[in-house]
Amino acid sequence: MKAIAVTPGKRQIGIIDHPEPRIESPADVKLRMIEAGVCGTDKEICRFDYGTPPAGSPYLVIGHESLGQVVETGPKVTRVAAGDLVVPMVRRPCPHDYCIACRSDRQDFCFTGDFTERGIKGQHGFMTQWVVDDEKYMNLVPKDLREVAVLVEPLTIAEKALSQVWQVQQRLPWGCPGTPGQAQSQLHRAVVLGAGPVGLLGALALVNFGFETHVYALEKTPNPRATLLESIGAEYFSAAAESLETVARRIGNIDLVYEATGASRLSFEMIKYLGTNAIFVFTGVPGRKAPVEVDTDLVMRDLVLKNQVVFGTVNAGRDSFEAAIRDIGVFNKRWPNALKSLSSERFPMEAHADLLGGRSSGIKNVIKLD
Ligand code: BGC
Repeated sequence: MKAIAVTPGKRQIGIIDHPEPRIESPADVKLRMIEAGVCGTDKEICRFDYGTPPAGSPYLVIGHESLGQVVETGPKVTRVAAGDLVVPMVRRPCPHDYCIACRSDRQDFCFTGDFTERGIKGQHGFMTQWVVDDEKYMNLVPKDLREVAVLVEPLTIAEKALSQVWQVQQRLPWGCPGTPGQAQSQLHRAVVLGAGPVGLLGALALVNFGFETHVYALEKTPNPRATLLESIGAEYFSAAAESLETVARRIGNIDLVYEATGASRLSFEMIKYLGTNAIFVFTGVPGRKAPVEVDTDLVMRDLVLKNQVVFGTVNAGRDSFEAAIRDIGVFNKRWPNALKSLSSERFPMEAHADLLGGRSSGIKNVIKLD
């Protein structure tokens, strides 16, 4: 079968002939892959900055944002059936008995580092025609979400971040409820850094949760991302026109920053404008560049004197996948055009070089696999 793979030893990227997987254990399901999204992580893997092939394989089949259809199930499968649409999870547990995170099915918090990730670290991914995996990693998607379900995996990043934000804010005795669609009485002003797919999906989630949402990103206006954000009631600020300081002053007390750029200098600059009792969430994985100067006294003073919390978040558990599927459904009803413009174009596998090399337009590029 066809698969898009990187061979780091030869610095090659291309379509390869990869053996079609077969159901091997009673809880396995076989998927016909429908489509896969291209993200920053895939591009980094294709620059050979990231990504590890499975042990013994010279190549890694990439792709981790996906949608598939179940075609066959092992005798012990109960959660899904042939014909169902599913989004598979990305991370698989480490083998160690003492890793309580992995043993509790929370490999997104694995503390040994020996987890694997399909399409990223030690296991082949989903940019291929057929996939076999345990049913426990499958998340059922309603059929009417077929056109937008490829956005579920990137949305899980915001869902996991927000579930932790609600946990952190339980420290406040008056409570900061996180009820979808209801205005937040206390935690209400959010800034998203970056307007790539992670930032845009984060902004959709924040607006949907009732936050007054502002997005700060590079591109000057007008641009399709700014238009999309305005259409959902978020405010777009371009770094080309305004400094972070001016924007932060205009916004007032910033309760939440959702970082989605991977740009560490900008992010640490932003920490300076974080408000009282506020939270800063990092989601980006920066490449290693030269060190930058940070006003550490100012940052540390504010962290203490303003009760601030800064945390990083990676990957997602089943609860975040379920929340993402629920919310993609909500977004699709509330903002059908915005969601469509996020992932409008589909490309054939043969277009992978331009898509993965970053030489294509579109906000979220999606490769058709069927
Ligand atoms: C994926 C996550 C993964 C992370 C680090 C992201 O692009 O969405 O599932 O854990 O990269 O490898």
